[in-house]
Amino acid sequence: MALKAILFDLDNTLLDFSGFKRESAFAAAKAMKKAGITLTEKDLYERIFKEYDCIKPRQKVIQVLSSLKRKYKLGIVTDAPREKAWQRLVLSGLDALFYPVVTYNDTLEHKPSLKPFELALFLMKVKPEEVLFVGDNPERDTISAKKVGLHTCLAEYGCIDYSEELNVADFTIKRFEELRGTVNTLDD
Ligand SMILES: [Mg+2]
Repeated sequence: MALKAILFDLDNTLLDFSGFKRESAFAAAKAMKKAGITLTEKDLYERIFKEYDCIKPRQKVIQVLSSLKRKYKLGIVTDAPREKAWQRLVLSGLDALFYPVVTYNDTLEHKPSLKPFELALFLMKVKPEEVLFVGDNPERDTISAKKVGLHTCLAEYGCIDYSEELNVADFTIKRFEELRGTVNTLDD
């Protein structure tokens, strides 16, 4: 089978939210306190945490995506609103890698609706069987992508409560870089 495109969920699949957000809010609060701001470190921390999206890509994401981009179309299907999705892509340095970026605003439906996936296929001009979808949520991501006819890969590292019974994906990766192997297996 010839693989032509790879679609990704964004939050937790490509982006590392929680760990980094916590760390950077903590570091910023410490620095602000040191600089003489009169709020307590805890207050500062909480304010920063609430107000900012501090985001970085997961390890190896940029390297792996840049090399996959030489051969495949790469796109995003996310439930995030358009503005948030682009903000996160730009902050994490991933914004130039994808077309299309399908956000909530494009179909006004969240996954597991099939519409966001169908729109991505339409914009990429590919058939479902030519596409691999990678996401961290077994229900919202994998089940719906399967219904559309895509190959599916579960990003197990992003699952909060991973359970084998819920995982109906064709492939499962424990680290992002394992995606290279999955793609090679599919595309022969
Ligand atoms: Mg996700």
